[in-house]
Amino acid sequence: MTSVAIDRVFNFSAGPAVLPEPVLRRAQEDIWNLAGTGIGILEHSHRGKAFGAVLEEAEALCRKVGNIPDNYKVFFMQGGATSQCYLVPANLLGQGKTADYFRTGKWAKDSVKEARFYGTAHVCYDGEPDNFRHLPTPDEISHSDNPVYVHFTSNNTIMGTQWAEEPACPDGAFLVSDACSDIFSRPIDFTRYGLVYAGAQKNLGPSGTSLVVVREDLLENPPRELPMMQSYKLCAEKGSMPNTPPTFGIYLMGRVFDWILSEGGLEEMERRNRAKAELVYGALDATSEFFECHAREDSRSLMNVTFKTGDPELDARFVAEADTNGMNGLKGHRSVGGMRASMYNAFPREGADQLAQFIRDFAQKNG
Ligand code: PMP
Repeated sequence: MTSVAIDRVFNFSAGPAVLPEPVLRRAQEDIWNLAGTGIGILEHSHRGKAFGAVLEEAEALCRKVGNIPDNYKVFFMQGGATSQCYLVPANLLGQGKTADYFRTGKWAKDSVKEARFYGTAHVCYDGEPDNFRHLPTPDEISHSDNPVYVHFTSNNTIMGTQWAEEPACPDGAFLVSDACSDIFSRPIDFTRYGLVYAGAQKNLGPSGTSLVVVREDLLENPPRELPMMQSYKLCAEKGSMPNTPPTFGIYLMGRVFDWILSEGGLEEMERRNRAKAELVYGALDATSEFFECHAREDSRSLMNVTFKTGDPELDARFVAEADTNGMNGLKGHRSVGGMRASMYNAFPREGADQLAQFIRDFAQKNG
């Protein structure tokens, strides 16, 4: 179970975010001297044996954590998840073809915009009218006639909404998920997807590196010629190394995968994340005359809890007082306002407990 180091605060940042303490301790050692080589992980050639082993292990552990079938390619890319907004359609959407997009927040909006460089982006649900407070029920969804794929954001980091399960996908299409902010926070059935991508900086590691998992048949006939660094096919063929890869990011993700497995895997991650979220939502529901959640109850995220008092000055006071009480990073995104408590896999339960108590005390003092 978690133990909390006394020289660290509770970090509620949405990302880059808290990482598992044993992983950081081990990284301290490996930065100095990786596996007795006398060279640190930051200094090893990506072509050498030591890094080769790191990369191989990271991929193998990723497959094990996610129970990823053999007919899926797993690789690591640079450029963060925003690059995936254009890489997905560039690699998978032919000119004149249509893909369906769930427009459920800022990152989904970006994906819609970028898809238009390559084909037609059909918005099959638009959450903007209620400022993205909820995810659609089946009657709110209207698919295009023949989409190549259906893109959705499994967890909307800014809005604090999360799909309870994948949306249904029309026959002949495949699902693409931006899983940046909830990858490996709960079990995931990759056979239901064509492609899943995630920037590392929430549940997996440092920023700048992305994980891509894609069904291999989708890479067979790219719809267009692409520059080298934009090609999934090339990146898969070159084993994540079309150029010098983000070696430290890949190393750290490997350590985080190892940590997930040693803690009991994705079922255990989900159990913990659910328990933490219930503590905080429980406190918010108990003080609902004072605090309001941004997300509708049926769409609440276990990763990012968004809430406010309705008074920007009080919100600012909440954030400042929480900070002086050892809880950092609670300011909400400007498009939603108020507060946001991000509690990814590595976030300790003690922090959720402390925030829940702080919410109750704050409401009592100021209500
Ligand atoms: N998608 C989601 C759901 C995100 O939360 C983020 C970053 N917060 C991104 C995409 C963009 O990631 P990056 O900054 O790594 O490009």
